[in-house]
Amino acid sequence: MIFFWRKYKRLVKRNCTDPNLADTELAYWRNQLFAATVLFIVPLSVIAIIPGVYMAITTEFYLLLFADFVVVLSLGFIAFSSILTLNFRKKLLCASLYFVSIVLLYDLGSFGPGLLYLLALTVFISLIFEFKYGVISLIINSIVCTLFALFIYYDFGRSPIVSQYGLDSWIAVSLNLIFLSAVSVVLIPRLFDGLQSAFKKRTEAEIELNKSKKELEESLALLEEKSKELEQFAYAASHDLKEPLRMIQGFLNLLEKRYQGKLDERARKYIHFSVDGAKRLGTLIDDLLEYSRVGRIHTNIENIDLNEMLNELIKNEIAHSGDSTEIIQFNSLPVINAVPVSINMLFRNLISNALKYQDGKKDPEIKITSMEDQNYWDFAVIDNGIGIEKKFFDKIFMLFNRLHTKEEYPGTGMGLAICKKIVEEHGGKIWVESEVNKGSVFKFTLPKTRR
Ligand code: ADP
Repeated sequence: MIFFWRKYKRLVKRNCTDPNLADTELAYWRNQLFAATVLFIVPLSVIAIIPGVYMAITTEFYLLLFADFVVVLSLGFIAFSSILTLNFRKKLLCASLYFVSIVLLYDLGSFGPGLLYLLALTVFISLIFEFKYGVISLIINSIVCTLFALFIYYDFGRSPIVSQYGLDSWIAVSLNLIFLSAVSVVLIPRLFDGLQSAFKKRTEAEIELNKSKKELEESLALLEEKSKELEQFAYAASHDLKEPLRMIQGFLNLLEKRYQGKLDERARKYIHFSVDGAKRLGTLIDDLLEYSRVGRIHTNIENIDLNEMLNELIKNEIAHSGDSTEIIQFNSLPVINAVPVSINMLFRNLISNALKYQDGKKDPEIKITSMEDQNYWDFAVIDNGIGIEKKFFDKIFMLFNRLHTKEEYPGTGMGLAICKKIVEEHGGKIWVESEVNKGSVFKFTLPKTRR
């Protein structure tokens, strides 16, 4: 049963709608309403024909019999035949319903329900057609009412309306029908116009939004491409720069050795400046290479036991600075899923900064903590160093931005830019909280699962 109903529904839908219309168009919804009406009216008319035939035979009212068959036949055509155009089907349905309503009005004489039938038809026509068909329906209603008024006036025909009702009551009731039909014909299209303009505005807004989205996507893709090109360029340039730099450093050393004792104080000072400059250039190039490598060369993700990694790192870092390993404390840290080389570099940069940016008046104290969130690990590297002014909180994460001269604190201004790139490559965020002369807290998040 359900299978047949589904099949029947599909067939009616196919025959009674237009697949070329989008659901943002008013005509689409008009056709949907028409298809839904046909869907239910066909089985109902088949059921209704049984009492209709019985009544027509018992009362010898053969016009009703004829009307019933005409309607069932045309409904069959409307629902199932693919020869007729959609517009013709819609008109055929309205014509059949008009035919039945006029026959009922004429032969049953029940003008209350009969006139309501005409009104319902006008409303239906205004719903499934454009304005002009509503006006035609209003004219048909007026003609039908006038014809019946003439029948009553001239006492013509065998309709019960003619014998049972006076002209006055007919005119009063039918004028009401015409008035209500006119109201429907005028108001329904107004409602539709409002709906359509709302539809149109929504569609236009959607188109505009999609356009902006596409432009944004294109710009983002371009930006990504450019930043990749830039990274590639930085990598190639810094890689190529290393070779001539090595040569300069080599010749400077040679100069120093060969002419030892032959050079005056000033010449030695100049050579010393050059060696120092070349060294710094070397560090800068190394950092630049590291920066361009993040997320490009080091990409293998592994499980990292941060306790193990940090123990190893602190040992090396402290051995370098000559301090006691006691100054760096951390409680049990998690095992995370990330790129080991990058995470190592991230902690190394933060710890070496925490050790470096001290005023020398007190012993350094560094703490590393972790907290578990639903989707992220929250880490903090806390120091008791010189601190940072609030206005520089964002600036320090940019490439080459330093707050001190190389004489005060050595460095290239790339460490935090590398940290930011590493954290963001992993899908996290990094920021600083600090108070001058009290210390800084570098906080960052890392997602538990890689996106
Ligand atoms: P570098 O250390 O080579 O200068 P960074 O990018 O690591 O470059 O740091 C940028 C700047 O941020 C530093 O010059 C310093 O002024 C400031 N900074 C970084 N870490 C700290 C810290 N732990 N305490 C105080 N200032 C810091």
